[in-house]
Amino acid sequence: MFESLSERLGGVFDRLTKAGALSEADVDTALREVRVALLEADVSLEVARNFVKAVKVRAIGQAVTKSITPGQQVVKIVHDELVRVLAGDGEPEALKIDNPPSAILMVGLQGSGKTTTTAKLAKRLKDRNGKRVLLASLDTNRPAAMEQLAILAAQVGVDSLPIVKGESAVQIAKRAKTQAAMGGYDVVFFDTAGRLHIDEVLMDEIQAVRDIAQPRETLLVVDGLTGQDAVNVASEFNAKVGISGVVLTRMDGDGRGGAALSMRAVTGKPIRFVGLGEKMDALETFEAERVAGRILG
Ligand code: GDP
Repeated sequence: MFESLSERLGGVFDRLTKAGALSEADVDTALREVRVALLEADVSLEVARNFVKAVKVRAIGQAVTKSITPGQQVVKIVHDELVRVLAGDGEPEALKIDNPPSAILMVGLQGSGKTTTTAKLAKRLKDRNGKRVLLASLDTNRPAAMEQLAILAAQVGVDSLPIVKGESAVQIAKRAKTQAAMGGYDVVFFDTAGRLHIDEVLMDEIQAVRDIAQPRETLLVVDGLTGQDAVNVASEFNAKVGISGVVLTRMDGDGRGGAALSMRAVTGKPIRFVGLGEKMDALETFEAERVAGRILG
């Protein structure tokens, strides 16, 4: 397992003076450890570098508080800065589902957990907000994925758009939109096709679907265990389709969650939810404090 940042810094600072203010040399020594810890937690090199710079500015010259050691003090500064970057402008935004039927476009690579997350979100909106939800799968390349969404919809007690063989993603999107309006639904999810890698055909299709769906939210689902890849996927999708937020799945695994920091820093988009397992209620709103604690170890 990973050595926690507090442990590392404790060791470093035991060898340093404990008097007065944090000196630049003390801070530099500590920040080398911070940088390694961030890289081990899957934060990208550039993001880690910028992050450490910001922490350095805040740390130098700070008087060492009597009650805590210099090591603990740097850990606290790092923690606060992590929370600041992860939380963005503060309170996590609620999903925009104010204008029925509100469309939510779900995008992401195959296997990221997109279909599972769609059903989890539908359940959440039904159970907590009393919303009537319709789910539509647009994954025409993978009939099994379409079936899967219908099965999960039934499991969580919401409706799914009947599957019509031979329709294109655009045709399904139009039908879903009409059905959502006619059927008096509050929210309609468009579960778009995933591929193993980003390609032009996929992006063109998602853009066409987006133009029909006119989504209030475009949520990118990414596997939180994929580290730097997740960050690349997020910047690609954001550039091509424009995302309003991210859902990080598999945060129940043993990754350190550094992808969250990189993604926030690179795309500027908020992480809205985290997936914490395969069960339909294993979804939580994103909490910067918790992820910061996890990155620090
Ligand atoms: P899609 O291809 O993106 O639609 O991916 P799926 O929704 O089919 O998910 C792929 C697999 O990942 C399934 O076995 C899901 O149960 C699993 N999965 C999805 N989200 C999570 C999560 O947050 N944690 C864990 N452990 N597994 C997840």
